[in-house]
Amino acid sequence: MDIKQGFVGTVGNTPLIRLNSFSDETGCEILGKAEFLNPGGSVKDRAALYIIEDAEKQGLLKPGGTVVEGTAGNTGIGLAHICNAKGYKCLIIIPETQSQEKMDLLRTLGAEVRPVPAVPYKDPNNYVKLSGRLAQEMENAIWANQFDNLANRNAHYETTGPEIWQQTEGKVDAWVAATGTGGTYAGVALFLKEQNPDVRCVVADPMGSGLYSYVKTGQINPEGSSITEGIGNSRITGNMEGVPIDDAIQIDDPECLRVVYQLLRKDGLFMGGSVGINVGAAYALAKQLGPGHTIVTVLCDGGSRYQSKLFNEAWLKERGLWPEGV
Ligand code: PMP
Repeated sequence: MDIKQGFVGTVGNTPLIRLNSFSDETGCEILGKAEFLNPGGSVKDRAALYIIEDAEKQGLLKPGGTVVEGTAGNTGIGLAHICNAKGYKCLIIIPETQSQEKMDLLRTLGAEVRPVPAVPYKDPNNYVKLSGRLAQEMENAIWANQFDNLANRNAHYETTGPEIWQQTEGKVDAWVAATGTGGTYAGVALFLKEQNPDVRCVVADPMGSGLYSYVKTGQINPEGSSITEGIGNSRITGNMEGVPIDDAIQIDDPECLRVVYQLLRKDGLFMGGSVGINVGAAYALAKQLGPGHTIVTVLCDGGSRYQSKLFNEAWLKERGLWPEGV
């Protein structure tokens, strides 16, 4: 019998998908880890599960307790599902700039959702810092603290990385991914480098994030902005500390949208904005490396979470971003 044990037992073991149109164009194998097929719909189910189970093992999270987190949405969605499945409550602090679809879904899942103004990390009212303070003030509550809690990257070191290694039979030349907390990038990079130090590990970065300049110059110097959600950072998180980075590739909004619409129209894959950054960077890397290489990236979540933005003609046209030829 092959039966998964509830929501929790269904997290992970996602397929690795050949992205045909991008692979055929470049002569490389561009492969996407299908994290949108996790039961909560995103890559963050893995981190949410590891964070909760780590807190349980440490005796920090007790029956009836509350999980508190500051999140751009997907971690909150993963946490809310797992809280339902395990009998915990869930409080989510989210920047009000994040998509309505994610907020609606969080409420449907029964999480208490508090949208707050989007202010920089150094501001004490930043959503991450606020969530930490609230968790401290509450009884029988834990702060998931996904940015600095290493249970996040351990999820990817122990599951996503080994799955990629097995699925490619060790034939992987490069790993490329954008970072929010950095958990996905870091866990997979650490695992793959241990198997083969020649695997090239590359950070994909949207405009408005500081990692590209950090890798190129040593200075965190964000410039511009991005319509993507859940990725980009202006600091080195705990999960990214000491993690190998061989290079960085920056992808702007027009290229991200070109990629998202090509995935939709030529590959049949309806993906979110961070996937445009990831596959855009994998495509750029394929052009750099030349034909014959295998490049792995992540398909973080699906497009339906961004219907009102990335797939809304009026919204894109207002911003001068309607992709040519669509
Ligand atoms: N893409 C999306 C859509 C996300 O929500 C996130 C997580 N915030 C990421 C990518 C980045 O994942 P990580 O936090 O593991 O860096």
